Amino acid sequence: MRQREVRRMMTCRELVELVTDYVEGRLDAERLARFEEHLAECPVCVVYVEQFRQTIDELGHLPPESLSPAVTDELLAAFRDWHAGQAN
Ligand SMILES: [Zn+2]
Repeated sequence: MRQREVRRMMTCRELVELVTDYVEGRLDAERLARFEEHLAECPVCVVYVEQFRQTIDELGHLPPESLSPAVTDELLAAFRDWHAGQAN
C-alpha cells in the first residue's frame, strides 16, 4: 500500500517521529537509509538527534513520555524557519 514513497525526501516531522526507533537501532534498513539521507541534508535535524541522544545519556534511558506535543511543535516551527531561510 505504501510503496510509492520511492526517493521522496523524508520530512522533518517524519524524522522526529522516528527518532526514538533510530537511537534504539530499531529502524529497518530502508527507513534507516532515508533517515540518514535526511540528516545529510538537514543540520537542524542533526542537532535535534544529538540533543535527543544527550537527553537519553543524562537520564540513562528514554524520556518516559518522549517529547510533549508542545516541544515538538516548537521544534517543527524552528525547522520551518530554517527551511524557509533555505528556500529561494
Ligand atoms: Zn529536518
